[in-house]
Amino acid sequence: MYKNQFSDSYADARRRFLGSARKHGGDVESHLNPASPGAQGEELAMDTAYFGEPGASALLVLTSAMHGEEGYCGSGCQVALMEDDALLARARAGGVGILLVHAVNAYGFSWGHRTNEDNIDLNRNFCDFSKPLPDNPHYRTLHPLLVPDVWPPSAENEAAIQAFIDREGRQAYREGMMKGQHRHPEGLFYGGTAASWSNLTLRRVLRRYGEGRRSIGWIDYHTGLGPYGHAEKIFVQNDAEAYERAKSWWGADVIAVYEPGSSTVEITGTALQALLEECGQVPELTFMAMEYGTVPMDRVFLALRGDRWLAAHPDADEARRRALKAGHRAAFYPDADDWRGAVLGQSRVSILQAICGLAR
Ligand SMILES: [Zn+2]
Repeated sequence: MYKNQFSDSYADARRRFLGSARKHGGDVESHLNPASPGAQGEELAMDTAYFGEPGASALLVLTSAMHGEEGYCGSGCQVALMEDDALLARARAGGVGILLVHAVNAYGFSWGHRTNEDNIDLNRNFCDFSKPLPDNPHYRTLHPLLVPDVWPPSAENEAAIQAFIDREGRQAYREGMMKGQHRHPEGLFYGGTAASWSNLTLRRVLRRYGEGRRSIGWIDYHTGLGPYGHAEKIFVQNDAEAYERAKSWWGADVIAVYEPGSSTVEITGTALQALLEECGQVPELTFMAMEYGTVPMDRVFLALRGDRWLAAHPDADEARRRALKAGHRAAFYPDADDWRGAVLGQSRVSILQAICGLAR
């Protein structure tokens, strides 16, 4: 099931996305990524497809692969929407234009990383680089433990991480790890020291398509945190009015990152900044990250650590390389129909709700 929406590679996902967009009358544009080629020798691109009146007063943006290999999920949801005549008709009738941005980080999508060609986590890269970058002292302590020389991590390594958690607390561990850092280019959740190509390109796309709108909603698809198959509706705007609006569209289970119970932490430099800065003249901006759970968090972290170990050890033997690649893929894209079905169902509900909210 779901073989018409979901793909097995970036190259396949791109073909499917462009095919659906053209078949259903989307206005397609492609931005070629200079980090090409991909793992199959293919061209890498950030592709966009626009549906609806060019001058529609409201716009719904759906982005996939902000985090590379998480793109299987978002790409599948984008293709499903294009094949969904009823949903597209509802948007058109409500005066809502739909902009699909496929593969924000095509490099990571194709090569099987969460990060881009420079190991940059794009969702930590939308910073103001003219100012001093935030420090993350906990990450500095954790870095040599999280990216060890030996794989799998030794018992001593695991004990040292546990000692950190016992000393500083679980929350400090999660924050140190996930908040983002700008000092270790070979490390985890690295935000970079300059705006990446994907950052600059996405900004241009938003500026152009956002111009003149009254209201913009944005769903950014992610995977890897939370319970299996469950979509957490993560709110990152520091804006009470937008929070109320997000809840009125998507329900009371929209959860702000600063609230207890959020599966993530407060992050600086998220893609939201691009919306706030490039579309600041638009009266209503409403952003939500849809985060689908896959496997338990410890397994996700281990997959990310293994990915960094592998990057530093290109001479690793084939069996180990394969096992690490498969573990990473499974952490961000469970190859299972129950998961894909849950993803599509929840995505469809949230898209419909956003269209209804924007059409008001
Ligand atoms: Zn993500």
